[in-house]
Amino acid sequence: MNREGGCSCGALRYRLTAPPLIVHACHCRDCQRITGSAFVINLWIEGEFVESTSGAPRSCTLKGGSGKDHDVFFCATCGTYLWSRYHGVPGDSLFVRAGTLDDASEIEPDVHIYTRTKLAWLTLPNDVPSFEAFYELSKVWPAESLERFRRNVAKHAAQSRGG
Ligand SMILES: [Zn+2]
Ligand SMILES: [Zn+2]
Repeated sequence: MNREGGCSCGALRYRLTAPPLIVHACHCRDCQRITGSAFVINLWIEGEFVESTSGAPRSCTLKGGSGKDHDVFFCATCGTYLWSRYHGVPGDSLFVRAGTLDDASEIEPDVHIYTRTKLAWLTLPNDVPSFEAFYELSKVWPAESLERFRRNVAKHAAQSRGG
């Protein structure tokens, strides 16, 4: 998997230093609006594995599909959204827009979420889990991703206690 990407004008560049925990296709109204498209493909990955190699994204805070806030990070020049941080997710996770990778051809969603607002003409594959809203991580994620996520949440909790 090619793990480098950036914004449309090239001011922002990044590299992912690990594979994603899981790949979401989100069909919620907020993702449709932000992308101007039918759904977004997000790579859910720990923030420590997203390395900015050029430029610093700006951010703003929006309401997410769950009703909780998320911070959206984008290029101040061209406006391309690179990733989000959801306040409701414990630990330090980012949701990187798969379309901003230099080569997203190998990216396939592991799970489709918020399909209650999926566009009617779009048929989802039968062999990929899909949910009307969100889902329980333990029912979908591989054991390795669950373990990585557990470690990230524990580390983040220790840091916020000053430990
Ligand atoms: Zn840009
Ligand atoms: Zn969404």
